[in-house]
Amino acid sequence: MSEIIESCSECGPLSCYRKDKTPPSFCLTEAADQQVVAEIVEHLQGDNLDARMARAAAEIEGMYYCKATRVEETVLFAKRIGAKRVGVATCRGLVQEARTFVKVLRANGLEAFTVVCKIGSVDKSEIGIADDVKIEKGSYEAMCNPVLQAKTLNAQKTDLNVLVGLCVGHDSLFIKNSEAPVTTLVVKDRVLGHNPVAALYETHSYYRRLLTPPKDPEEK
Ligand code: SF4
Repeated sequence: MSEIIESCSECGPLSCYRKDKTPPSFCLTEAADQQVVAEIVEHLQGDNLDARMARAAAEIEGMYYCKATRVEETVLFAKRIGAKRVGVATCRGLVQEARTFVKVLRANGLEAFTVVCKIGSVDKSEIGIADDVKIEKGSYEAMCNPVLQAKTLNAQKTDLNVLVGLCVGHDSLFIKNSEAPVTTLVVKDRVLGHNPVAALYETHSYYRRLLTPPKDPEEK
């Protein structure tokens, strides 16, 4: 068990939301540099993309609270930031859902351009992946190529990119290489039907093992 450094995860009152409770001694709001806070506020009052995204996200939260699904919120967000062309970076395994989402985008007057994770079709061995850790040993098995997915959408000059089920880490690479802002519609969880929070709900029972993980055999 590593040393516990107190931060928001150890906070009971969560008083930064309504300022109606006493904050804890380690409160990050209390410790925040007020000059930095003021600079952020000023930045978000303008007409730059960050400001438009900040206002769009807050307005959608307030206006559609518990009414709009995430699919609907994504469309609303794209429209409110003035996006015309939406990139869809999808996992091959979720391409049916991506196709449906593209229909939703088009029905709402948005352009859509989709790139599947296996674009480029580079065998995993090319980046040093051993055959015994392929899903099907001895086969040609293309790696996910989120860098090429991002570069392809960059070339398409998309205004917003939406992730549909990219793997953990592949999503990180995509986000790192995307020029347009990125939002996530679907997070992949092959075990839990793409609902990873279910594991957290169950740490008191079926997923207790998450709190006492076995040592990773690869870990030194
Ligand atoms: S900022 Fe302060 S009040 Fe808000 S969650 Fe973190 S510790 Fe709690």
